[in-house]
Amino acid sequence: MKARVRFAPSPTGFLHIGGARTALFNWLYARHTGGMFILRIEDTDAARNTQEAVNVILSGLRWMGLDWDEGPVSGDATGASKGDAGPYFQSQRKENYQRRVEALLARGLAYEQEGAIKFKMPREPIIIPDVIVGEVRRELTDREQQDPDFVIVRSDGQPVFHLVNVVDDLEMRITHVVRGEDHLSNTSKHIALFRAFGVEPPKYAHIPLILNIDGTKMSKRDQGASLTTYMEEGYCPEALVNYLALLGWSPKGNREKLPVAEIIELFDLPQILRHNARFDLAKLQWLNGEYIREMSDDRFYEQSVRAFARAGLDTSKYSVEYVKAALDTCKGKIKLFSELPAYAGFYFTDDIKYDPEAAARDFTSENKPRLARLREALEKLEAFDPDPIGSTFKTVAQELGVKTGVLVHPVRLACCGNPAGPSLYHLIAVLGKKRALERIEKALAQIAR
Ligand code: GLU
Repeated sequence: MKARVRFAPSPTGFLHIGGARTALFNWLYARHTGGMFILRIEDTDAARNTQEAVNVILSGLRWMGLDWDEGPVSGDATGASKGDAGPYFQSQRKENYQRRVEALLARGLAYEQEGAIKFKMPREPIIIPDVIVGEVRRELTDREQQDPDFVIVRSDGQPVFHLVNVVDDLEMRITHVVRGEDHLSNTSKHIALFRAFGVEPPKYAHIPLILNIDGTKMSKRDQGASLTTYMEEGYCPEALVNYLALLGWSPKGNREKLPVAEIIELFDLPQILRHNARFDLAKLQWLNGEYIREMSDDRFYEQSVRAFARAGLDTSKYSVEYVKAALDTCKGKIKLFSELPAYAGFYFTDDIKYDPEAAARDFTSENKPRLARLREALEKLEAFDPDPIGSTFKTVAQELGVKTGVLVHPVRLACCGNPAGPSLYHLIAVLGKKRALERIEKALAQIAR
């Protein structure tokens, strides 16, 4: 069956990672069934409704690759399909809500009270057949026993969430409402409204929440709660999509890296897990590293240049060959692009700051003549390539009667400023003879006699 599903965020200026996962599950289900993924902006609260807040949602979904299928083409509210259409905005659909409220009033299913309009809620328990949670029986609470009816239009004329949400799901012929479990408490109201309109409600699938790794509720302020963070830190959208899909949904087998095409093929609602999922940033970062390892050189290059620029390192001052050669020594070595400036920023500045602990250990008076001897040997090299550079280290070490490591550590520190980084002989070759020797000289000048 071709599903018609929707993602219905309110523009709060923030796209929570849980919301992003809800959007993803809806999109996956639409693509799996060959159906429609509708984006509906629930913006009836005019006070919070800004273009900027809407853009946060649109850019986030675009970044994840979640394309929506349907909606009015700009300036036209009739609902065209595909192409540049959509999203739907509730603020442009006010007549629908009014018409539906009038129908309820006319049939005696709603009434006016002190300027507001209230819906007559049935007194019997309501059964919610949920695809994930199972069957939920919702009785009226003690307070609701007194007055179960609820406001659908406020006295200032504003239609309320429950009403607009249901009217749109109905008119958009939504077949499955896939949303966060926090909405389960609203669903009996929604089912009652559907029935009042004489329509069978859609199927419901309430997705368990995303918790922090320690099991606490993930709030807006928690690290990694906002999708924007991942966009800004240069994560690969494929990695995040892969991670989020497997966060609370599990295909058979224990695979962790699944390309989106395969996820679409396997995805189904009943396999969404019933328990809350814990957000494991370390695992996401590992997965991100896997996607970086496999990305094309061109894309790696482009993303890396951006990461350096964000850290204030301008790679455009260097030749393209130099930048590419430098980046070749980083591929497969990083999990996040944001690690790059610390890992390989030394390629793009001559202002090397030595890690103080490593400097105390490696820039010793004992090492000074060794370093000077190595410098001399490197200067004589004709082909400044990794292999001859490596042999030079070994020959000089032998001659001095020390292990190669004795030379490796101070030279690395001289060239990079810190004890970790790309393979040493390769990075020296990339720096080139002039730059590498200058750095060793500068280090020598630092070392006290
Ligand atoms: N606007 C609601 C929200 O952002 C939509 C809930 C739903 O998906 O029905 O939570």
